[in-house]
Amino acid sequence: MGLFSSKPKIKIQTTKKDGFSGWLKCTHCSELIHANELTQNLHCCPKCDYHYRLSGTQRVELLADKESFVELFKEYRPTDPLHFVDTEPYLERIDKAQAKTGRLDAAMVGMCKVNQMPIALGVLDFSFMGGSMGSVVGEKLCLLIEHAICEECPVVIVSASGGARMQESILSLMQMAKTSAALAKLQESSLPYISILTNPTTGGVTASFATLGDIIIAEPDALIGFAGPRVVEQTTREKLPPNAQKSEFLIEKGMIDCIVNRHDLKEKLSLMLKFLTGNERSLGKQSEPEPEKLQKILELSGKKAVSGMR
Ligand SMILES: [Zn+2]
Repeated sequence: MGLFSSKPKIKIQTTKKDGFSGWLKCTHCSELIHANELTQNLHCCPKCDYHYRLSGTQRVELLADKESFVELFKEYRPTDPLHFVDTEPYLERIDKAQAKTGRLDAAMVGMCKVNQMPIALGVLDFSFMGGSMGSVVGEKLCLLIEHAICEECPVVIVSASGGARMQESILSLMQMAKTSAALAKLQESSLPYISILTNPTTGGVTASFATLGDIIIAEPDALIGFAGPRVVEQTTREKLPPNAQKSEFLIEKGMIDCIVNRHDLKEKLSLMLKFLTGNERSLGKQSEPEPEKLQKILELSGKKAVSGMR
């Protein structure tokens, strides 16, 4: 799980004998950082800017206007029609994940506003069974997309996932087709979809809705791929270039459109949404001509994004 490390691991104790002093060692740069500082810095290392993983709730707080998020389809819970047992029964795994996260499954979907613009937002919580996509995740995302079509608003999905949920076998794999079909309907309705890839986004999630965005944004240094590097090397019998499957490599190959630092994510998302919807309706009068708006977005997305946009 080294690649997927989400929290600074080593806790340094200094003063309190049986307590945590608040000092942590960054798993990326090994510098000492204080837990409070990390929280205030949106869970990015203040020294090296490594982006630690956010929970579903933290992600919603980051993107949605204050108190604007209304969660939908909250009551959907996974079942175990295959009676699947690996090292432990699937139902027991679900119970543990539910107890750990306080959620019924890995997806959190709902309506919210981003700088006043209404959107349908879906986030995957990696701490619930690796953000894996089973029937519930697929169903909730589809319902969200269909709801967005009814409400005529854009869809934003933030992925953090190990891929399809193997414990649901084919039922999990069919969610790839299902979410893709729902997004095709969204496109027919001329509504935009922005996909945000965070560390890590892999497997069936990468191979379906996560890479179908009209715009695909990634956070810096995020692992994005289908199979893990070791499996790819074993299968192709070739050595992967260093940092293959990282955002910075993928933007050069045109897999993603831009890399956006977490501190700028909401603002840039909001600009892109305004551009894609040409939103005179809900944002009041937009006097800016279109080309200028586009240029502004490209400038804000940094030089790399300009070369990566297509
Ligand atoms: Zn660091």
